[in-house]
Amino acid sequence: KGAAAGSTDKTAVMPGVKKIIAVASGKGGVGKSTVATNLACALDRQLRYQSDYKGVGILDCDIYGPSVPLMMGIGSRPEIEDEKIIPPKNYGIKVMSMALLIDESSPVVWRGPMINNAISQFAKHVAWGELDVLVVDLPPGTGDAQLSLVQTLPVDGALIVTTPQAVAVNVARRGAMMFEKVNVPIIGVCENMSYLDAGEGRRVHIFGEGGGQWTAEALGAPLLGQIPLDSEIREGGDRGVPISIAYPDSPAAKVFQTMAETI
Ligand code: ADP
Repeated sequence: KGAAAGSTDKTAVMPGVKKIIAVASGKGGVGKSTVATNLACALDRQLRYQSDYKGVGILDCDIYGPSVPLMMGIGSRPEIEDEKIIPPKNYGIKVMSMALLIDESSPVVWRGPMINNAISQFAKHVAWGELDVLVVDLPPGTGDAQLSLVQTLPVDGALIVTTPQAVAVNVARRGAMMFEKVNVPIIGVCENMSYLDAGEGRRVHIFGEGGGQWTAEALGAPLLGQIPLDSEIREGGDRGVPISIAYPDSPAAKVFQTMAETI
């Protein structure tokens, strides 16, 4: 399954990785990294007790805003062994990000082709070992940089993150066209910041309604989950403990868990 996806031979790039899932969004700030990290945690929780469990990894390719290490509570620099980068682990999940290799005081001002070269080179040098799933946090947007990343990495399927706003739909559609071009199936849509739980079953739709459903329809893919706007999600990200780890029984964590089971 997924053998035709992408254009790169997976065994050449990441021989021990069974499945690569990309998390994409049309623009920044919609919660792509939040979804990517929580999904990785939920996948790990789901797979952990299976007899052939290998593990879950997350690769942060969002070099403009590499928030994955922070959100996963990773502070240490990776070790290098036999010219391979050993991804640091937290909550049992292997995490790799360019941010872990770059001096924080020097801002990155890179252009598309440089990014692709850097990331594909970099990806080849990470010692992932064996993994059931690698979750890839793509840079926001649907341009050439994202396109060739999806090809280089070789991605099996993409999850699109959007907000409930109507404007999000066109952007997501462009993203869909991008994945179509490289033959990568869209697994589904995750609507983030869907509503605020105002208690007593009342939901306040701060960013409007329908974006996730419309996007899903436009892409011909299922709407896999709606994540509430929740200060615990933001705090979890800021302190490096994703809500799926901190409060696995919270409504938001349960949505991530259901998504993980579908994927
Ligand atoms: P992106 O990767 O799309 O740029 P992030 O995942 O970095 O977005 O999220 C942007 C900000 O919004 C972060 O501070 C994050 O903690 C916060 N955030 C994301 N999703 C939610 C949510 N459902 N509820 C509350 N805050 C959220």
